[in-house]
Amino acid sequence: MPNPLHIKSGGRLVLSVPLILFMDDVSGNISKQWNKHHVVYMSNASMPREMVEKEFCIHFVTSSPHATPLELMNGVSKSVRKTMEEGVITWDCKNKTEVMLIAYNVFIAGDNPMQAEECSHAGLHCNYFRRTCNVGGTNQEKMSDSGYMNLFKCGELHTPERTLAEIKKQVELAKLPGGTEKLKGAVASSGIHDPVSMSIINHLLELGKQLRKRKAGVPAKPEAEVQVQLEKEFELALGGLSLDDHINPLLGMPGVNIHQDTPTEILHTILLGIVKYFWGLTTYILEKAQQLNLFKAWLESINKDGLNSPTLGAEYICHYKGGLIGKHFKSLAQVMPYLIYDLVPQHVLDGWTLIGELVVLLWHTAIDDVDEYLTTLTHTIQNFLSISAQCAPSILITKAKFHFLLHLPDYIRRFGPAILFSTEQYESFNHVFWLASIYSNQQAPSHDTCQAFSGQDIIKHMVTGGHWYDEKMKKWVHAGEHITTFLKAHPEQNHLVGLPICCSIDIFTQCLTGYAQLPTIPGDQGKRSKISPCIQWHLTLSATINMPGEDSQVSKRSSLYYKCLAFTTVSLDKAAVGSHVVLCVAMVDEILVPHGKHHAQHIAVHCFKFLPELHPTLHVPQLRLPETIHQLVVTPEDILCVVNVQHDCMAEGKNCKEMQHVPIQQEHVETTKMHPTVVHASTNAYLLNTHALHNYQLISAVIPKALHSQIGSSIVVDHHSL
Ligand SMILES: [Zn+2]
Ligand SMILES: [Zn+2]
Repeated sequence: MPNPLHIKSGGRLVLSVPLILFMDDVSGNISKQWNKHHVVYMSNASMPREMVEKEFCIHFVTSSPHATPLELMNGVSKSVRKTMEEGVITWDCKNKTEVMLIAYNVFIAGDNPMQAEECSHAGLHCNYFRRTCNVGGTNQEKMSDSGYMNLFKCGELHTPERTLAEIKKQVELAKLPGGTEKLKGAVASSGIHDPVSMSIINHLLELGKQLRKRKAGVPAKPEAEVQVQLEKEFELALGGLSLDDHINPLLGMPGVNIHQDTPTEILHTILLGIVKYFWGLTTYILEKAQQLNLFKAWLESINKDGLNSPTLGAEYICHYKGGLIGKHFKSLAQVMPYLIYDLVPQHVLDGWTLIGELVVLLWHTAIDDVDEYLTTLTHTIQNFLSISAQCAPSILITKAKFHFLLHLPDYIRRFGPAILFSTEQYESFNHVFWLASIYSNQQAPSHDTCQAFSGQDIIKHMVTGGHWYDEKMKKWVHAGEHITTFLKAHPEQNHLVGLPICCSIDIFTQCLTGYAQLPTIPGDQGKRSKISPCIQWHLTLSATINMPGEDSQVSKRSSLYYKCLAFTTVSLDKAAVGSHVVLCVAMVDEILVPHGKHHAQHIAVHCFKFLPELHPTLHVPQLRLPETIHQLVVTPEDILCVVNVQHDCMAEGKNCKEMQHVPIQQEHVETTKMHPTVVHASTNAYLLNTHALHNYQLISAVIPKALHSQIGSSIVVDHHSL
């Protein structure tokens, strides 16, 4: 028996294409007036992560200012089902043959309210958190000891069948006398609410009320008669279809378990959820103690090196502390413990330390050992929930996002690193949608945007060498050489279609390991700055460091070198003099570029050593300079990346309390305005910031094994004592 797909494809190779669907609501207006559109985007989940994230690889599917999200999803799920049943014949440009594609939906990304709607859940504020599991209850139940402990566990998982049955029960309730109240009760007790069948339900409720109305002098209609008439109306409302066709289409979609295929999204749940709650709590404590200005000074002076351009503008963050966005929270999560260690109670500090650990775990781009990773993650989440319960016990009852954390390990086991189902890339794509929407005259906005995007998709397909079937020539054709090479020669257009410029790396030599910008000195009045003069080898710091096996000191003696300020590392970070880098953990002292070149040759560094224990309160590795300074001269290829190292301000009981006033810079110009910054005491005590997201893999690799096991079990919390 040949495979049925073999017959369907006519002997062609059959490939399946997993799709990620995303749905959101965006405004289609330039002004602040909210012009709500629901949009659906899609990406191909079989591509590497680096490509899935690119704007180029996100495809617009549909949008409408009128249709409800589930009505749009109904259309989308119908066309996905069609390709599943019929297949799509296309050209495999690699193997130069026709193939058949079968698309299926792997998961649906979106923010929590949208996902709740997709699951026919009554929403985040409902007593039951049941999007995925059946945990919840009335506030009274949740406040009881056993009910509260249940919030720390995953409950029984939901099935689409059960949800479907509940919705059908609700439709039946609508036919009974007193249906409105009964229905309200059913929604509240089950947490299930289906917007799609709502029109039928409302129709039945309204009709029931009219039929049962008592008029003066006319006897009430017998209940049996009312029921018969309602049934008749119900059949009519179904319009010849079954009830299933009038219920959330995602519940019955083949191959989709909507309760498990709507993974918890990390941008809204973590950054705009739990990190935001903790930020609110922390600023409340700081404000009450009137320490916000002190906090601002600390934030101003924090070492940001190695964090890959974080968004930590102290002025902005403190002024608009109630209106921060995702990238602020992402940056704050990486440095908070170093800023507030002596300003807040210990459990709030522990909360931030665990947030730091959690954020690094969830922003992993790859997972080597799934079981080990998930054990650590589950442990961290449990600890975090216990700490949150200590900080603000009611938050676990009122905020469902804390409970959602518990489901993350299962989603990661099902779909891979959490960053894959992050919606950040789709949220940025909303800007592209917006640009397409504002040029419409708004007579038929969905039609206009669909046309704009289909035109764009065709161009993207053609210029990147895609094939299409030519009806006249009866064969697969593709664009000529002048068109397919166009983007390479035009980086601006390349950028406009959302492709990365990595193909032209040789143009940008800055992107190469070892590249160093030559040092300059300001030119004479009005003239351009000049390259500063070279110095001789024997005058450099590197010449004083004896490297074993290096006996070419003599031959270098007369060579000339530029002393540069920064160079590019192996991971393409920019490391400056004074930066902390990974080789061991070291600090850069000198960067030498031979005369006439742009490529660094010798890098002088001095190394730090790890203490055998983690820091007792901050739970990060501690670094010290050894008694005899260990200096090295290495090449740029030895330096893997830049890391974030912070001063341990509480070491030896010496809090760095001293403040220094420095002038504020505005648009590259120093002003006479001053702001305070922290002066660190000269204690030999440093901390390796393991909460930094940038280069987390390289940082983790440099930490001694013994410390790793301590990080995994850092803050021991007694869950039952709560
Ligand atoms: Zn749950
Ligand atoms: Zn300090």
